[in-house]
Amino acid sequence: EEEEGFAGVADTDYAEEKAIKLSQQALQDVRRQFGKTYLPLVNGEYVQTQDFVDSVNPSNFSEIVGKIGLLSVEQAEEAMKAAKSAFPAWRKTPVKRRAEILRKAGDLMEQRRAEFSAWIVLEVGKPVREADAEVSEAIDFCRYYADEMERLDKGVNYDVPGENNRYIYQPRGIAVVISPWNFPLAIACGMTVAALVAGNCTLLKPAETSSVIAAKLTEVLVEAGIPKGVFQYVPGKGSQVGAYLVNHVDTHVIAFTGSQEVGCRIYAEAAILKPGQKHMKRVIAEMGGKNAIVVDESADLDAAVLGVVQSAFGYSGQKCSACSRVIVVEPIYNTFVERFVEATKSLNIGEAELPSTQVGPCIDAAARDRIREYIEKGHAEAKAALEMPAPDNGYFIGPVIFSEVSPDSTIAQQEIFGPVVAVIRVKDFEEALEVANGTNYALTGGLYSRTPSHIEQAQSEFEVGNLYVNRNITGAIVARQPFGGFKLSGVGSKAGGPDYLLQFLEPRTITENI
Ligand code: NAD
Repeated sequence: EEEEGFAGVADTDYAEEKAIKLSQQALQDVRRQFGKTYLPLVNGEYVQTQDFVDSVNPSNFSEIVGKIGLLSVEQAEEAMKAAKSAFPAWRKTPVKRRAEILRKAGDLMEQRRAEFSAWIVLEVGKPVREADAEVSEAIDFCRYYADEMERLDKGVNYDVPGENNRYIYQPRGIAVVISPWNFPLAIACGMTVAALVAGNCTLLKPAETSSVIAAKLTEVLVEAGIPKGVFQYVPGKGSQVGAYLVNHVDTHVIAFTGSQEVGCRIYAEAAILKPGQKHMKRVIAEMGGKNAIVVDESADLDAAVLGVVQSAFGYSGQKCSACSRVIVVEPIYNTFVERFVEATKSLNIGEAELPSTQVGPCIDAAARDRIREYIEKGHAEAKAALEMPAPDNGYFIGPVIFSEVSPDSTIAQQEIFGPVVAVIRVKDFEEALEVANGTNYALTGGLYSRTPSHIEQAQSEFEVGNLYVNRNITGAIVARQPFGGFKLSGVGSKAGGPDYLLQFLEPRTITENI
């Protein structure tokens, strides 16, 4: 019947003065709420905790955005028990009702869009426009997964004369969602609402540095009508509460997005049967990248330079989809590097909330120090073509471009997750593809070319989950560019795509002889 494509919500148009005013007002309102305490939600109640951690503004680390109550392992056990007892009723709740709750949550986030953007800007240092696009993505996840679950709920009939065959889906049970800080709303929301609409009771363990935004998502889900015990907000230390929930005998699904190191560890731990466990755990692990853009001699250089700058330095390179390698063929290498350096020099570095800011801070001191170590490595391995200065009242690092980077050097192989780019010289397009594929990862990739045979070859041979031709490689949109990688970038699940919910469901076939 309604076979129309999914239409996502539009981003805010900041060309309108009204939108800018609204955004500035929201930043002020949010700032007035700085320093409040956010407690875990267990079985429908906000519970007191023993330990707390401060979440600070990365653009200005003297500002405490909020205090997070950290769940203890004993409280995590209570949350598990509550999830278990809520499951029988939730699995029987009609899909129509579950979908309604998601749509309500999407509507609530749309109403609070400017406020949610402001929390993202101030808690994780994401510039305003990118924060706004993230709120759109979260809203789209709610609406799209609601539609998707309604589609899957119809099941399939494979009837033949004398025999009815019905193919249906049921929820798996208890889902543990472990989310990263870099898309603190969209990724936490996407994994959570997918698990919920599929009928699983869900515990959300957000990254420590982005737990205030996860508390805001919690407010929305509660207001949308999620029953107690069905969704629980369980902030805590990854190595403690996270690991406890991963290893729990009653966990059925683990939806993880984060680093390769932690993802592989979770995959391994989840494989071990615990005493009394009668099921296999399903692990969805979406991990890092070392994404490359290839530029060949036929490329539109203006477009390529712009696309590389956006892909490499948007959110200071702290996107799993960010470009961290540029592979350029010999005839245009020098020209490209020169123009890439010039274009990067014009970027404004500053506090995420300023409308003029294009490159904000990194997330925290540990990340800043790790990125600095990579920059030092880069100096030993390659040639620094540009190192931009940055303010020091926040965790800022200015964009860095290394040229003449060897494809197997550290800075060309390891995920840096900061504003650092390695430009690699290759003799021709064949070598470019070989170098592009020469890492452990396969997340995003890009090609700038006007040569049809190269575009065709890249489509079949460039090993990435999301390939972008003649455009930037970040900013995937729900139901338009289903997103996710393979090799050591992930298990091949595609967030915002038609296969995503299947991972949270158990398919069954029912045959009746008639
Ligand atoms: P991280 O792996 O450090 O942390 C992710 C989450 O895992 C956090 O909630 C953390 O508390 C938890 N955790 C840590 N140790 C744990 C353990 N032993 N058991 C259970 N949970 C544990 O990652 P991060 O720094 O938050 O995020 C950045 C990484 O995420 C980058 O590598 C980036 O590429 C990746 N990422 C991937 C995608 C994707 O779709 N492929 C999207 C966004 C981010």
